[in-house]
Amino acid sequence: MKKTALVTGGTRGIGGGISRALHEAGYLTAANYHLGAANAEKFSDETGIPVFSWDVSDYESCKRGMAEVCEKLGGSADILVNNAGITRDAMLHRMEPADWRAVISTNLDSVFNMCRLAIPAMREKKFGRIINISSVNGLKGQVGQSNYSAAKSGILGFTKSLALESASKGITVNAVAPGYVSTDMTGAIREDVMESIKNSIPAGRLGRVEEIADLVLFLAGDKSSFITGSVFSINGGQYL
Ligand code: NDP
Repeated sequence: MKKTALVTGGTRGIGGGISRALHEAGYLTAANYHLGAANAEKFSDETGIPVFSWDVSDYESCKRGMAEVCEKLGGSADILVNNAGITRDAMLHRMEPADWRAVISTNLDSVFNMCRLAIPAMREKKFGRIINISSVNGLKGQVGQSNYSAAKSGILGFTKSLALESASKGITVNAVAPGYVSTDMTGAIREDVMESIKNSIPAGRLGRVEEIADLVLFLAGDKSSFITGSVFSINGGQYL
């Protein structure tokens, strides 16, 4: 029987690449998104991957979305990729409480929400793969990103704790910490700032969505069964 996979924020950028890779590898894949309906419909038409809208920062919304996905896939997700994320950059002395809250709830509460809903069925099946998308800036910090870095760093502690709780149940829980990758999120960065970021990457370029997706695909597969609680840097040597 085909394994099932669910990718949050899975209709564009890194998540879009991950959904495609899982689908092409033969997983029954579903992709979540939030407000980008037109893009999601286009993505679904192009790939054949069913798409579902809900807000990952809201537990009840996740519950409803997960139920829809379960019905469509004919069962709960064997593989969960927590990828959805946002930035609301500002120096802390100018950061609005709403920007702190939005980033923490979308990037970190979401991981609790989705894992809390997915883990009981994984424990019952004695199989699961959870892959949480963190960031190089969760490892090293970044000016203007105290909210984002806190959320992405929080994901690492969460990942390790859930890995310890789940290892005896055939469930692995890992984090992937990408460096800068060319997507809409990085497209919003000012050109001169982006130039200096590029200069700080020993590989001399941004990462590609496909490179992140290939790593996630490996972690989703059977060959990674002894890897859990790990954090994978994939950043062209930017931070070691
Ligand atoms: P994009 O901005 O390109 O895409 C973000 C995705 O998340 C979209 O599908 C969006 O849905 C979805 N999303 C946002 N908020 C919500 C929400 N409340 N509920 C459900 N879905 C939501 O991001 P990237 O592809 O660049 O980034 C993907 C992940 O990788 C993020 O977690 C990011 O922090 C992380 N990352 C990115 C890096 C980069 O350089 N790009 C580097 C390191 C980490 P919709 O289309 O509906 O808006």
